[in-house]
Amino acid sequence: MTTADSAVALTPSPFLTEDHVAVREAIRDFALNEVAPLAAKLDEEKLFPHETVAKLAELGFMGVPIPVEYGGAGMDYVAYSIVIEEISRVCGATGLTVAAHTSLGTGPIYNFGTEEQKQRWVPKCASGEMLAAFALTEPDAGSDAKATRVTAIEDGDHWVINGAKLYCTNATHAGVIVFTARMGGEVGDASKIAAFVVEKGTPGLVMGKLEDKLGLRGSDTREFVFEDCRIPKDFRLGEPGQGFGQFMKTLEGGRISIGAMGLGLAQGALDVALPYAKERKQFGKRLIDMQPVGFKLSNMAMEIQAARNLVYEAAWRKDHGLPFARHASFGKLFASETAMRAAHDAVQILGGTGYTRETPAERILRDAKLCEIGEGTSEIQRLVIARFLDREGLDV
Ligand SMILES: Cc1cc2nc3c(=O)[nH]c(=O)nc-3n(C[C@H](O)[C@H](O)[C@H](O)COP(=O)(O)OP(=O)(O)OC[C@H]3O[C@@H](n4cnc5c(N)ncnc54)[C@H](O)[C@@H]3O)c2cc1C
Repeated sequence: MTTADSAVALTPSPFLTEDHVAVREAIRDFALNEVAPLAAKLDEEKLFPHETVAKLAELGFMGVPIPVEYGGAGMDYVAYSIVIEEISRVCGATGLTVAAHTSLGTGPIYNFGTEEQKQRWVPKCASGEMLAAFALTEPDAGSDAKATRVTAIEDGDHWVINGAKLYCTNATHAGVIVFTARMGGEVGDASKIAAFVVEKGTPGLVMGKLEDKLGLRGSDTREFVFEDCRIPKDFRLGEPGQGFGQFMKTLEGGRISIGAMGLGLAQGALDVALPYAKERKQFGKRLIDMQPVGFKLSNMAMEIQAARNLVYEAAWRKDHGLPFARHASFGKLFASETAMRAAHDAVQILGGTGYTRETPAERILRDAKLCEIGEGTSEIQRLVIARFLDREGLDV
């Protein structure tokens, strides 16, 4: 059985317009026909989804929320969330590739770049001609991103960059990487951090180890170092001291896409578990008719619906210019944990079959774990939400 055989109809959401429904139909069709058949192979052989990325580019799905005049599809964040959800529903690695490219890699250049910088990179990225990546994490700067140690020193018309970045999604294949570096000050002083762009092939940009991961094995995760890497003066985004804030803003939007990815993975787990529970009989009864199994499926469906509402609401607020950071954390946290619970229960419902590679259930379980770690761990999301509660309470 494949997820393609067992698509479960989704409840329409009040956050969706007819255009969103059309986008969902188009991307679902593509995901089932073009992405799902490759997912197991990408995972088993650690293959990057080059072909799929090229096809997604042709269809305009590599720059969904970027305006048409900059090479994107000119759609909103709800549409973008749907695209990440539907791709991740059948292949988490492909979903993460698109999300890291769009909101993390291309987003900061579009949002914080000068017109010249935007013209140089955004149309190529948004059209999918060039892949983008985002490098914040370092060996000693993970959740504590202010602890950036990569340095940028002014030298004539250039910046000279030194230091290491870790766990950068898409790094191997990216034409551009946006990254943070310290322009002086003590480690921990966010006011001295700036954001920069480096192009592929720049001397001194040295790719390091490709990570061998638990899940999302078709997604490219690599460390790299800057060794006296010289980048032109005008490759800095914004002013010194703005880089940390720019990257935190980028992560607020990025959290919506990791929420969408978690949502897709959770739905993918239900897609596998539900038809199996309706078909498989033990003790003369279908599994779904046994209360412990039926209850698991009920919880999965309810949590997926709740996660969908949270993720779409965050995206809808962003699209309407309303504050959305707290909602992005709600959506990311809940959808990630929903994905883990749903994948865990799907494997359990499938019994021995769930533990094998016969179905995507075990892959979804491995893939889902990243959602609780990347773009701010679940603990960091809870800290962010607690800070909001402390400052603003929870208006209902
Ligand atoms: C597959 C993959 C892809 C990634 N892609 C990218 C990318 O494209 N770009 C990028 O910049 N980074 C990327 N990352 C890095 C990712 O964002 C970090 O791994 C994440 O932010 C956590 O940082 P860390 O790994 O250093 O863990 P740490 O910060 O060392 O945290 C370890 C544990 O301690 C907990 N912890 C830390 N601080 C606190 C606190 N104050 N209170 C409570 N608990 C705390 C954490 O929640 C976690 O459980 C990726 C990681 C992976 C695995």
